[in-house]
Amino acid sequence: MRALVIGGGIGGLTAGVALNKAGIETTVLERTSRLEPIGSGISLWPNAFAALDAVGVGDAVRAAGTPQVNSAIRDHHGKVLIPDANHHGDLYVLHRALLSEALEAALPAGALRLNSEVGAVRANRDGVEVDTAHGTERADVLIAADGIWSRVRTALWDAPAPVYSGASAWRMISDLPDLPISGESWGDKARFGYTRLPGGKVYAFADLAVPAGGHENDLAQRYAGWHAPIGEILAAADPASLIRHDIHHLPPLASFVDGTGRVALLGDAAHAMTPDLGQGAGQAMEDAVTLAACLRRDGVAGLWSYDDARRARVQGVAADSLRLCRLFTALPGWAARLALRSAPKSSMEKRMGALLGWRAPVL
Ligand SMILES: Cc1cc2nc3c(=O)[nH]c(=O)nc-3n(C[C@H](O)[C@H](O)[C@H](O)COP(=O)(O)OP(=O)(O)OC[C@H]3O[C@@H](n4cnc5c(N)ncnc54)[C@H](O)[C@@H]3O)c2cc1C
Repeated sequence: MRALVIGGGIGGLTAGVALNKAGIETTVLERTSRLEPIGSGISLWPNAFAALDAVGVGDAVRAAGTPQVNSAIRDHHGKVLIPDANHHGDLYVLHRALLSEALEAALPAGALRLNSEVGAVRANRDGVEVDTAHGTERADVLIAADGIWSRVRTALWDAPAPVYSGASAWRMISDLPDLPISGESWGDKARFGYTRLPGGKVYAFADLAVPAGGHENDLAQRYAGWHAPIGEILAAADPASLIRHDIHHLPPLASFVDGTGRVALLGDAAHAMTPDLGQGAGQAMEDAVTLAACLRRDGVAGLWSYDDARRARVQGVAADSLRLCRLFTALPGWAARLALRSAPKSSMEKRMGALLGWRAPVL
């Protein structure tokens, strides 16, 4: 069997590694001339490491990151609302570029083609064809890992467009050795997250409930009076690293597989979620490993098994993430913090256990 993956993001790269490892000859087509640049961090939870271990890159990724301990959710004065919620295994933060590099290094030579933007896609019950600037490629199955604004989804699915969540996020990297605490702090329609990165750096994000498309650039003012070390982190932020994103999410799809049974969506193309649970990439990795195991076991029909195995779980995670996002965008700060504090611990613990305790199929 031959597979084509569109998109060399975290989802597409993991799919390329997993599919090749499962004995399915796979090429990843990426439109850009280089993979993710240095500039932002990412947190990876135990379920992401279960997937990374299944494809053989877990240890390389651990070595590139910093383990997070004693992360808590606080209020804007620094009072702990929820202590460290991860008792389930590895939680690391690292530069996104290093994650991409570790995945790229695990691909067979020639399996990643940069500068290969996919234009038209044609699928029928016998196979798929895609056009790139370098010619037409054919395969038995096509995996569209082309992100939240997926062109393949728009062309082949009757799906709603992504929806603005009501929040925008600024991500940054600051030079600040010895960050004393890590976690996330909740104020009034504003949050701030901060974690250690290797090399005395800090990965931080500012989250504001503001209209989409704005040009606010007054973070120091908006976070004035928040607990230490938020002011220091903002002051030490590398301006070149500061990126703003309006956060969108994709309403749930009825299927991750198209009508021909030859094309499947993966990662953000299938289920872009708000980043509140730090799970978008982790879920894309779970997709990738599950997809490879299903295709190896069931052949082309494995796309349907993948849809069965993944859709309910990942749409549940996306719904939980959106609920958390709405606490912060819809409620005044005091009410959001009260809701966080009063969430029953046992049910939260059970949900975290089910989320983070995911087991990867053997490839
Ligand atoms: C503010 C923020 C913070 C986040 N933090 C975390 C976190 O801490 N932990 C976590 O797990 N997740 C996090 N996420 C989510 C995570 O970033 C995404 O879920 C993940 O990167 C999705 O990966 P992907 O491969 O599906 O899509 P993408 O990363 O969007 O990759 C899609 C790729 O497809 C390529 N492409 C698109 N169209 C074409 C085409 N026609 N031809 C060829 N190539 C094409 C693009 O160039 C791109 O490289 C966060 C998201 C945001 C917005």
